[in-house]
Amino acid sequence: MTAIQRVGFIGLGNMGGPMCSHLVRAGFSVTAFDRSSDALERVVSAGARGAGSAVDCAAGVEAVITMLPAPPHVESVLLGAGGEDGVIAALSPGTVAIDMSTSSVAVGSRVLAAARARGVEVLDAPVAGQSIGAQAGTLAIYVGGSDSVFERARPLLLAMGDAARVFHVGGNGAGYTVKLLLNLMWFIESVAVGEVLTVGVRAGVSLEKLHAALVGSPANSVFLERDVRMVLDDGDYDEAFPMRLVTKDLGLAVDLARDVGVPVELTALVEQIHRRVRNLYGDDAGEISAVRLYEDLAGVRVRLP
Ligand code: NAD
Repeated sequence: MTAIQRVGFIGLGNMGGPMCSHLVRAGFSVTAFDRSSDALERVVSAGARGAGSAVDCAAGVEAVITMLPAPPHVESVLLGAGGEDGVIAALSPGTVAIDMSTSSVAVGSRVLAAARARGVEVLDAPVAGQSIGAQAGTLAIYVGGSDSVFERARPLLLAMGDAARVFHVGGNGAGYTVKLLLNLMWFIESVAVGEVLTVGVRAGVSLEKLHAALVGSPANSVFLERDVRMVLDDGDYDEAFPMRLVTKDLGLAVDLARDVGVPVELTALVEQIHRRVRNLYGDDAGEISAVRLYEDLAGVRVRLP
């Protein structure tokens, strides 16, 4: 099997832009495309070659990476839309399509079927670590696919991720599943912490003492100890991951649970709370805005001195 050297990269937004630039810096020959010319220009100035379309990124490469907003974008780019062929049909047998978007197992299965028919290999490899992690090249990556394809793609993944947190979690689709579940836990935490801190402050406890006591208790979490500090210290709800993508991910988690037949009342409620947050504060509201909802309901701000 040929080592991967030439790579196509499609979707150059908050995450894909810096990830693509890391591949260029690591010495891969990268052809990139985004429907936004500004996004494309940024990676071209970092040393990538600009392509005229997504399908053009498939020409002469050993692997194509997609980093797109949601399942419909992944499906139309990889499988085609409006009678036009997609990227899979343009890839040569033996090449690898790696989708790093937070997408669904359902779209992943359709991509896999089309890819198998052409002799193209597929990995799902969604990421965690926010745009800061994408810029630093320290993303956590959750990979679904065969051992041999994972090994072949590993140098690419290591150029974008933290070696200690590149997890091969199972066969095709397992990466999407793990990613949706870890996001779900994090957003459940966001609602729980929003409720607990605002009730505590309204009940007259000092936020500083409440937070320290909770961090030192069995109820501690990474969200409570680290992530919510953006809100508590700076009033920053983290717009780098906008509510339009949060509600997409939570909707996919609800779909996943329904598909496997598990009743998930809490998941459904947390998804609806975030839909309400999106309606109130907008598509671009920051990912921790559930805390803002509880602040507004309680009439307090949770801020450390
Ligand atoms: P983004 O909206 O910033 O970027 C998506 C890019 O895809 C945009 O530049 C857009 O122009 C491009 N695009 C959309 N449709 C296209 C098409 N048909 N052809 C070519 N380009 C197209 O989103 P992002 O924040 O970079 O997120 C990408 C994925 O990563 C999403 O699935 C998201 O859920 C996931 N993710 C994001 C974060 C984060 O903190 N932002 C963290 C982890 C995972």
